[in-house]
Amino acid sequence: TRTPVTVTVTGAAGQIGYALLFRIASGALLGPDVPVKLRLLEIPQAVKAAEGTAMELDDCAFPLLSGVEIFDDAKKAFAGTNVALLVGARPRTKGMERGDLLEANGGIFKPQGEAINAGAADDVKILVVGNPANTNALIAQQHAPDVPAERFTAMTRLDHNRAIAQVAKKAGVAVTDIKKLTIWGNHSATQYPDLFHAEIAGKNAAETVNDRDWLENDFIPTVAKRGAAIIEARGASSAASAASAAIDHVHTWVNGTADGDWTSMAVVSDGSYGVPEGLISSFPVTTKDGKWEIVQGLEIDEFSRGRIDASVAELSEERDAVRKLGLV
Ligand code: NDP
Repeated sequence: TRTPVTVTVTGAAGQIGYALLFRIASGALLGPDVPVKLRLLEIPQAVKAAEGTAMELDDCAFPLLSGVEIFDDAKKAFAGTNVALLVGARPRTKGMERGDLLEANGGIFKPQGEAINAGAADDVKILVVGNPANTNALIAQQHAPDVPAERFTAMTRLDHNRAIAQVAKKAGVAVTDIKKLTIWGNHSATQYPDLFHAEIAGKNAAETVNDRDWLENDFIPTVAKRGAAIIEARGASSAASAASAAIDHVHTWVNGTADGDWTSMAVVSDGSYGVPEGLISSFPVTTKDGKWEIVQGLEIDEFSRGRIDASVAELSEERDAVRKLGLV
């Protein structure tokens, strides 16, 4: 039997955590033959709720789940961890300035980065889901100097999946017919879902759809504002779809992208496509053997250039703001 892979989930008692943990334990994260050990990190007030979730995990009798441990101390929660899913974050509340939000999250992601640096396994892979995800990932990464920077990623896979669903519906095809979709930039309203390099059943997606008005005025805003539309309809934020995207992100990272396709991940920029080096920005990436690579050589037209630049400018501003706070 294989040694279990240790997976740490922060904010485990939150609603994304509730949708995420059971799928990890069922084998959806790493594969149907990989046993997992779960470590749940919560703030002290939420430990009791996490214990309740752990009771339910026991009650599922998942064959692949080899144990659940609960912590309110990041150093202990990340000791020896192979996969870290950073979900818990400080939500923006009414009247909160962006600077306050960044500062509050700095108080969470700085110590978590330090704890990962101090004790995580050598092969650790980190996905940040908690918002503002790209900048939270940057803060954690900057406090983990001994961990290769490419191990810190932030989630734009939900945006990616939302975009695929919208195009498939518009074109009347299956989601599996959509390939090479890209989300560029920040996981925020400025993100740019790119159809110009995407394919529908092997043909250029923008040309196949052939509806520029829809692309600019329906598709892009629908994807970017989907989170708000779900809150409006459901009375609660998207949790199951966010959890599902987190599963997809790690599964693709570990198991690889298919030939002739790529995915979207926010990763540390090497300067590709004019994105300043060091920013954690979403790109088209392929993955293989647990490593990602930014897809090179795509031609970027003026429209796409403007959209990418706008989202990347927002990331630069967020980095400047956390720099002022001494967080990076
Ligand atoms: P959720 O589980 O709904 O969300 C957690 C984070 O994911 C939020 O930052 C949220 O951002 C973000 N997120 C990213 N994508 C999405 C999406 N598509 N839809 C919704 N959220 C998304 O929050 P809860 O409040 O239910 O739970 C948070 C938990 O985290 C609490 O149990 C809290 O105690 C815990 N926590 C733990 C910490 C720790 O372990 N050290 C630190 C801080 C909190 P957004 O706010 O923008 O929706």
